[in-house]
Amino acid sequence: MDFLKLYFRSQTYKVLKSDQQANMLSHCYLISSKDKVLLDEIGINAVKQICCLKEDKPCNACVNCSKIEHGNMVDLEIYPKDDKSLMVDDILKVIDSAYIRPMENDCKIFLLKNFDKCTIQGQNKILKTLEEPPANVIFFLTVQNIGNVLPTILSRSKRIEESGLPIDIISQFLKSQNVLDAELIASMSDGLITTALNIAENKDAREIINLALHLCENFNSTKDLLYFSSQILSLKKDIPFFLDTLVAMFRDISVCESSQNLLFKNLKEKFINLSKVYTSQMIQKIILLINQVSYKLEVNCNMTGVIDQLLLDILEVKFLCQK
Ligand SMILES: [Zn+2]
Repeated sequence: MDFLKLYFRSQTYKVLKSDQQANMLSHCYLISSKDKVLLDEIGINAVKQICCLKEDKPCNACVNCSKIEHGNMVDLEIYPKDDKSLMVDDILKVIDSAYIRPMENDCKIFLLKNFDKCTIQGQNKILKTLEEPPANVIFFLTVQNIGNVLPTILSRSKRIEESGLPIDIISQFLKSQNVLDAELIASMSDGLITTALNIAENKDAREIINLALHLCENFNSTKDLLYFSSQILSLKKDIPFFLDTLVAMFRDISVCESSQNLLFKNLKEKFINLSKVYTSQMIQKIILLINQVSYKLEVNCNMTGVIDQLLLDILEVKFLCQK
């Protein structure tokens, strides 16, 4: 499951394929997705699909596909050059260049990434070129937030919306990239490759998992409260990830004896021991408490107070629902 396989699942692939078959390519495609990493891949693969010389496009192997891959395609211009915002200067270069004929291919292609980050002024500048496009030019605009694109631009583009990916696809993708705990990370990714890779690259992820396990195993009295509270609070921006991990762990504990599909497969033995401590009634209540905390953190409640209260509530549940 590499990026090319992900591309074949995309809406963009389907739309371009049918437009190519009908010989009705649009002069401007606006592709939107919340998934930044996937969006960049879709953008470049869309260009390959247009230029590919093979029957099954994009092949990722022909001369044109490899020129695009290596940035040597003269009739392709990608803006912005770095990962910054698209500037008015970039737009002016695009407009000038759009009227120069393609040199090697049938058409000239402009891939304008992060078009939603372009200023209103910049968007207005390119409007006329999109209204009366030069012959043999195709624009691809990629956006994460379609709300930032002028309605006049939207109405002159063919819009393609990419939705989030199924968790099992993300999991397969992560496994192909040799990411540890692929299933767990996929389950926390909200269907976005970008989020999944961010979690995977977070060096502290392993420590966060260990802290969650430590809490499940060793949080037994108010004496432990200060320690766990300070450990959790020190995670700062990773606190939501910690809470998600904790919920995933408790879910695993509640089903570990019967299920083969644990997220933390390597912790199964430990979970079987923990399932002797945590009744399913306890776990249900604890998960409910954690989910309420996740909500409170989203609306910016006092972090310390919320975490301390959660820990006290967990102790209370453990005490009241003892086996
Ligand atoms: Zn090709």
